[in-house]
Amino acid sequence: MTPDLNDTIVALSSAPGPGGRAVVRLSGPDAFRHATRVFTSSEPVRVNERRLYAGQVSLPGVASPLPADLYASPSPRSYTGQQMAELHTLSCPPLVEALIAELLNAGARAARPGEFTMRAFLAGKLDLTRAEAVFDVIAAGDRDALKQALATLAGGVARPLKELRGDLLDLLADLEAGLDFTEEDIYFVSTEDQLLRLGRALATLSLLEKQLTGRALGSRPFRAVLAGRPNAGKSSLFNVLTGATALVSPEPGTTRDYLVRRLDLGGVPVELIDTAGRRVLADDVERQAQTLGRDQARDADLVLLCVEAGAELDEEEWTLLRGAEPAVVLATKCDLTPAPAGRLATSAATGAGLAELRALLAERARARAAPAPSVGRCRHHVAACTERLRQAHQMVLFGEPPELVALELRAALDELGEMVGAVYTDDLLDRIFSRFCIGK
Ligand code: GDP
Repeated sequence: MTPDLNDTIVALSSAPGPGGRAVVRLSGPDAFRHATRVFTSSEPVRVNERRLYAGQVSLPGVASPLPADLYASPSPRSYTGQQMAELHTLSCPPLVEALIAELLNAGARAARPGEFTMRAFLAGKLDLTRAEAVFDVIAAGDRDALKQALATLAGGVARPLKELRGDLLDLLADLEAGLDFTEEDIYFVSTEDQLLRLGRALATLSLLEKQLTGRALGSRPFRAVLAGRPNAGKSSLFNVLTGATALVSPEPGTTRDYLVRRLDLGGVPVELIDTAGRRVLADDVERQAQTLGRDQARDADLVLLCVEAGAELDEEEWTLLRGAEPAVVLATKCDLTPAPAGRLATSAATGAGLAELRALLAERARARAAPAPSVGRCRHHVAACTERLRQAHQMVLFGEPPELVALELRAALDELGEMVGAVYTDDLLDRIFSRFCIGK
């Protein structure tokens, strides 16, 4: 699950249930456009103005319009940094449900738990510490999503950062505790130990720097998964796109496992995955293959939903489209039947639509590779912290007074503190008192 910032998400952000006021929130490039599909006011909603519009919401199947307010926050001065619209109306559950359904119909996607805050983090509006809290919220909803979000959002830096901060606080605590006893020649930490611990911290920072650089470059290839009913033409598309030979057969359920091939689309790497199609399960192997297929779809950056031209989407396919992952519908076998309007028409037999499909994949992959704004900020602090610790290392090596080493350590911790938005003095005192029982 890689967050796609180009789509517009919608969710109820007030407490569900009957009440005075329901707040339905949208964030993304089309937030105003989707909101104004249901909301009307005496004055037109302006894209660049942050303000409140009084008006009404009209919903299909609901006879009279509901009184409503629209809070419009243009990008970038909103909570998520994106265009945001909040519709405030009566909190009547069936009406709110109809309102959200209508916004989904307009093209919005149902937001995942914590996703507004996740976007705020990606826009550099929140620090890592607060973002970690968001990750916890996501974990409560879906563990797989949490794993992916941690890896993608923070580039996996949150945990090593926390450990590094802890180690440096311990070292500072040892140094500061020693400062109180210099007259009595009591040392809490030897020179060798200081050098060892500083060396370890520098190694961690160097790893973090590598991770952040990888994140800035887009560390893993974009993953696109071919999904759809058996016989929809997934393996044939996979074969013509990758030059591979997956087993193609007119009998449903031929692709029993999943296949992965890497494509190079004008220098942009893309992993294409062919999954087992879903159907009524015949045996255990097939059941396993389908589970694997579903796992692959869940980890995808883009789901390519293959539907034979002429066929309608069934309920499960609609669910997949509205699901967590961004998805595009491909009309397959267009040499046999013309594709319905609005779908990307392809044919593995004639090669029609393949250039467009490759272009679409390359475009999405390029968009994902763009680094989060927070990455630059983190790298700046990591570099500054590294510099401070190098100084401290030199000082210990040349036998400079521990007060000066402590000063450098404090400065290094300040950098980390700024990066994660934490204050360290209280923890430091806690550590000194709890570990050394000085008690004075
Ligand atoms: P999958 O189960 O979704 O992987 O579907 P396959 O790729 O195995 O295709 C199922 C059947 O549809 C096979 O008989 C293919 O030859 C046929 N098929 C696939 N793509 C096309 C196409 O573009 N045009 C035509 N005419 N037949 C196709």
